Amino acid sequence: MIVQEPSKSTANLQSVFENDAFLGHEQLVFCNDEETGLKAIIGVHSTVLGPALGGTRMWNYANDAEAVRDVLRLSRGMTYKASISGLNLGGGKAVIIGDSRQHKTDEMMQKFGEFVNRLSGNYITAEDVGINTHDMEMVKMKTDHVTGIPESMGGSGDPSPVTAYGVFMGMKASAKYRWGSDDLGGKKVLVQGVGHVGETLVKHLTESGAKVMINDIHEDTLERIANTYNAEIVRENIYDLDMDIYAPCALGATVNDDTIGRLKAEVIAGAANNQLADEVRHGKLLQDRGVVYAPDFLINAGGLINVYSEIAKYDRAEALRRTEDIYNTTLRILTDAETHGITTHAAALKLAEERVEAKRKQMRG
Ligand code: NAD
Repeated sequence: MIVQEPSKSTANLQSVFENDAFLGHEQLVFCNDEETGLKAIIGVHSTVLGPALGGTRMWNYANDAEAVRDVLRLSRGMTYKASISGLNLGGGKAVIIGDSRQHKTDEMMQKFGEFVNRLSGNYITAEDVGINTHDMEMVKMKTDHVTGIPESMGGSGDPSPVTAYGVFMGMKASAKYRWGSDDLGGKKVLVQGVGHVGETLVKHLTESGAKVMINDIHEDTLERIANTYNAEIVRENIYDLDMDIYAPCALGATVNDDTIGRLKAEVIAGAANNQLADEVRHGKLLQDRGVVYAPDFLINAGGLINVYSEIAKYDRAEALRRTEDIYNTTLRILTDAETHGITTHAAALKLAEERVEAKRKQMRG
């Protein structure tokens, strides 16, 4: 038998598990089906607290490496989101490579369901960017490991209103911490992105007497929301506006080198994932400027809490109660950050990691 020396490329491959970029994942599954054109990657970051739950995103990634990076980052984020919310869930996420408007077919989604099924419940999927309810119905034909299905099919329905409620709770707690009262009456709030979550957030804010400014790329949406909730439309130089609270509810990375110096808000609390372009550096810049940043993965967890009710069999009222608890957790994180002189993002990560570590130790016995 000829024993070959490991080639250079094999040696590199072995280092994948030690590589920082692998982010300590338990499992990374590449799904390839020539017939339907499915190219997907499922990332299972952790199942320590429970099955890894997280949505499937379909995106036209520039290359496969970008897709791998995205799924690794997103699935790790789900571990932290579930942990900090006190849910018995691990963290996972899936990405399908391709343009959802051009390449997606029912057959492709069913094939994806087969791949999910092979993981025997280790990974549970849901909707994310580029995936809709119909797609999830296709997935459901091949596996039971799906959540976020319509109420008509026995699911928990659209999670967005619950997400918005959690963001509102996190915002109130941040106000309490910053100004000594959680009364948002008279506070100037900019809501960027008035989609599924943003609209309900605007509703809560206007009902509590806040002065709400709204921004969106869709003019018809802006007009409708402004008329329904008596909000002011803002279109230009939004980061320079006079405001108390900035609520990013559209895209990630809007808190960055360009915007931090311009933002006059004393509180940042919104629904968008990954709001800080650089978690460490921008988190520190906000801390130095005395801006209260409510960690995104903590305050936007309402949707996950709602979806979890499909597995844990609790009801909407209980999901709302748990979501309301985001208020207390936010206050705790903001206080912890001050006590330890660390950023609020770091304080939130610490709490999330501690719960996973405690369970890991308990499992070891
Ligand atoms: P959505 O697509 O319904 O709404 C997003 C809105 O942002 C749209 O109205 C869109 O026109 C607008 N928008 C896009 N680009 C913009 C820009 N450059 N400037 C201003 N507006 C812009 O999405 P959603 O479900 O409301 O989610 C909003 C954010 O919250 C996303 O980042 C999402 O990942 C995050 N999030 C959502 C949930 C949920 O339950 N839906 C849960 C957790 C996190």
